[in-house]
Amino acid sequence: MRENNINVANAILDIHTHKGEIQSGGKAIINYRQSAGTPLQDGYYYSVGIHPWELKPGNLKRHSDFVIDHLPDEHIVAIGECGLDKLKGASINEQMVALQFEIFMSLEYDLPLILHNVRMTDKILAVKKEFQPKQAWIWHGFRGKPEQAKQMLDKGLYLSFGEFYSDEAMRVVPDDRLFLETDDSELDIEDILYRAAQVRGVEVETLRETIRRNIQNIFFRA
Ligand SMILES: [Zn+2]
Repeated sequence: MRENNINVANAILDIHTHKGEIQSGGKAIINYRQSAGTPLQDGYYYSVGIHPWELKPGNLKRHSDFVIDHLPDEHIVAIGECGLDKLKGASINEQMVALQFEIFMSLEYDLPLILHNVRMTDKILAVKKEFQPKQAWIWHGFRGKPEQAKQMLDKGLYLSFGEFYSDEAMRVVPDDRLFLETDDSELDIEDILYRAAQVRGVEVETLRETIRRNIQNIFFRA
């Protein structure tokens, strides 16, 4: 985890967005991409990783070098998004090589993982069991059923919810395992927060504090 710039970190509510700095309004951990072409900016925090859709035969070294080059930067507070996708991207074997590299980096830099998972839950749980990481693994954009949410929570994962999800699944997540995100949605994180508070039957400001506390605990050192 990174040392905290308390003023900036306290504004963050959204753990994963593909919006840029201005559009995210300083409220998000921005997914930093190789294609971004702009340097990391003061006043913002980012994740860096290898999206399985960007991984193509022969480009693992370029992607992993990019991750290695940026990880020492204090603006980076997570690894991701990374993970496995059965339907899109490189072969599962190549995706697995990239993911294992990112898990090593997560251990090395003591940073949480923001995970993309499409129909690869068993493999992700198997690799988690193998590495036994103490860093948080966050399944981003969780859209599974409540039973699957419970299973993931039992395995120690955190769940992050965006624009679309099962209300029942969101209701089974305890306060200390919950995150919110905009991902590639047009919505503002405030809209996602408002709706999540309704679904969970809590005040918006109560949920805001819950999410801020979780972000503080998992991404920043007090
Ligand atoms: Zn994303």
